[in-house]
Amino acid sequence: MTATGQTSVKPRDAICSPGRWPLLAQSRALVAYLCAIVTLDLVVIGVLAKSTEFRLADLATFAALTGCGAVCIEATRRLGMPAGVPRDLLSAWWLPVAFLLPPVYALLAPVPLQILLQLRVRATVLYRRVFTSAAVGLAAGTASVLFHSWTGDRVGLFGTAGPFDGAAMPWSVGLPGLDGVLADAGSVAGGLSAGAGQAIAVAVLCAIVFTVLNTALIAVAAHAADPEGRWGEVLWDRERLLLDAVELCLGVIVAVLCGLNLALLLLLLPPVVLLQRSLLHAQLQAAARTDPKTGLLNAAAWQREADTEIGRAQRMGNSLALVLVDIDHFKKVNDTYGHLVGDQVLIQVAATLRSQLREYDVVGRFGGEEFVVLLPGADVHEARRVAERLRTRVGRMAVAAEQAMVTVTVSAGVAVMNLHGADLIELLAAADLALYRAKELGRDRICLPATPAAPPPRRADGATGGIP
Ligand code: GH3
Ligand code: MG
Ligand code: MG
Repeated sequence: MTATGQTSVKPRDAICSPGRWPLLAQSRALVAYLCAIVTLDLVVIGVLAKSTEFRLADLATFAALTGCGAVCIEATRRLGMPAGVPRDLLSAWWLPVAFLLPPVYALLAPVPLQILLQLRVRATVLYRRVFTSAAVGLAAGTASVLFHSWTGDRVGLFGTAGPFDGAAMPWSVGLPGLDGVLADAGSVAGGLSAGAGQAIAVAVLCAIVFTVLNTALIAVAAHAADPEGRWGEVLWDRERLLLDAVELCLGVIVAVLCGLNLALLLLLLPPVVLLQRSLLHAQLQAAARTDPKTGLLNAAAWQREADTEIGRAQRMGNSLALVLVDIDHFKKVNDTYGHLVGDQVLIQVAATLRSQLREYDVVGRFGGEEFVVLLPGADVHEARRVAERLRTRVGRMAVAAEQAMVTVTVSAGVAVMNLHGADLIELLAAADLALYRAKELGRDRICLPATPAAPPPRRADGATGGIP
């Protein structure tokens, strides 16, 4: 999995007006970091290019592998590209370049493919493409140097027999049984294509180094773009790890087979294209379920999941509650601080709601500044307790605007299954009515619908309570 440099545009702390240069709208820290990485990439390419002999066979392998990457991009282009951070399987082609060719090729490989992505798939701001190319190149270049060094492969390092020809490098692990293969083959491709266990193990290790380094380089950029963002969100999630593992396996397999016979790429290409297409399809499906601003389920997806949960609760005879949450006077936030700050408030309210709920609670963005939560297993007491906690936590959060910290309150309507409604429509209607009353009573409170079965308590403190 190759992480790509999609970072949010934050106008605060900009160094000057962006105009035609979106990079200049970014924070100084981010601009400095991006420039440093791209410069480092160019310097390393220059240094390595000087000491590398560009052989025809290497150039042919490079062209074949980048060509496969290009075919993958073209074959999935029409499916579209999900918003946010797109994931691809292009490392399946970059890793073999890193293992089979001198390191300078690994640094160069992302360049044509990023250009193709920019021209044929999605024209994003240029600095992101350049940075992604540099980050991937540096990570793949490091993996390549480590691979050739650990296997003592001078030819692989420079594309020519160097002054140490025939002698293991000082930091070479001198893999037993592998040295002979390498010497015979004249390149480490021999070790890989001969299926030498240790060469494959080193390749796997180097592929892990590539993934970790690439993710770290992107994570630092994401953090510089949004210092309040959580590191964990960029560095860790189960889906990302799984995809990284798949890409790593693919990269090593392609390297082994490609080392054996370049023509085998023709057999490898169709399954990799198919994998890439299904990966993209899954991402587009997930994107269609998600509200792009808050990352919560959108209304349609929430409704589908809620229907399933309600059906299950009805079959099992379990309790279930629904909470409708609406931000109070949100229009004023927009009018006072602007829509960008309003959006940040929405994002933070969504994150606060998510953080206060259990994994199996179903939370979605219902409309503009309205959220809806389904609480499987919750009875009336539990539902009130949860709704009250959500209200209190949102009330405590603050979003930084240019000259102020913005705080908001929420009102919530709670409806419980079999008490206020028997199905989703009835529950929504009951919660909506309760929410309306919470607004009428002065906002910043939770309300339940008045039912004979659950006579609402009189509010004692004026902060929360049922309907009088
Ligand atoms: P109340 O307490 O009665 O709920 O008042 P309110 O101002 O929150 O409700 P109202 O329905 O009058 O206004 C909702 C506002 O939410 C108006 C709309 O511009 C804003 N809004 C809806 N979606 C978005 C969005 O995605 N981003 C931003 N920034 N604002 C949004
Ligand atoms: Mg509102
Ligand atoms: Mg509303």
